[in-house]
Amino acid sequence: MDDGLVFTVLGARGSWPISEREMMVHGGRTTSFMIALENDVTVIVDAGTGISAIDDSDRAAPQAYHVFLTHYHLDHVQGLQFFKPLYRADNSVTFYGVPPENMKLEEAVGGIFRAPWFPISLAATPSQKRFVDLDFEDLEIGPLRITTGELTHPQGATSYRIEGPRATVVIATDHEAGDSTIDASLVEFARGADYLFHDAQYTPEEHDQFYEGWGHSTWEDASDIATRAEVGQLVLTSHDPSRTDAAVAHLTEQAAHLFPTTVAAYEGMQLPI
Ligand SMILES: [Zn+2]
Ligand SMILES: [Zn+2]
Repeated sequence: MDDGLVFTVLGARGSWPISEREMMVHGGRTTSFMIALENDVTVIVDAGTGISAIDDSDRAAPQAYHVFLTHYHLDHVQGLQFFKPLYRADNSVTFYGVPPENMKLEEAVGGIFRAPWFPISLAATPSQKRFVDLDFEDLEIGPLRITTGELTHPQGATSYRIEGPRATVVIATDHEAGDSTIDASLVEFARGADYLFHDAQYTPEEHDQFYEGWGHSTWEDASDIATRAEVGQLVLTSHDPSRTDAAVAHLTEQAAHLFPTTVAAYEGMQLPI
């Protein structure tokens, strides 16, 4: 990719990680996205198993990581237990997220580092950690402007709009369309973005038969939001763990009938930002 900041998809699978021959194109790792800035600073959105691709053990300089979490369902945080940078004493790792109700962000992140489910506590990992409990405010990290929005999801989820020098990316990994007020606010939040990563975990048939209220959208919903928000490109994400590459391609094709620039997220996908 040409010079400038790059947005990389490290994981695009929803619900749980999977490794199947017929899913290798889109990949089996769960949600995570990365932007490497200059000066050893890295911005990450979500810490699914995709985050395991980050390994700084051969870098001399300490690294600063800014990890934005959309919510705390396991597929978005389970990569943290084996996130190598946490185990290096000179690294700093700052977590950002709208905390769950009646809980601090530090407790929510620390919850997956707790016996009997995991042997090491978060506090015992050697890196320097900071926790920023968000209340849907705006932030700036280097050349990136990051704003937060609300989604429809059990226990809540946050969308992020990241405006970079070259492009704007909106991430809405877990959202069940249907609440007209929140849908309209997502449309405004995503308005004019170059890329909209939108949940398309289910087909309309699956959603209506089995998964109403589970917190996920269909390719049809994603196309509708993208059309109303007039984004440049719709990137379908949170692929269901049962979805083969051929099935993802098929639903992407269907979505492209409604929103022509639709593509599907895959591990290793890179975009300018
Ligand atoms: Zn999810
Ligand atoms: Zn979720």
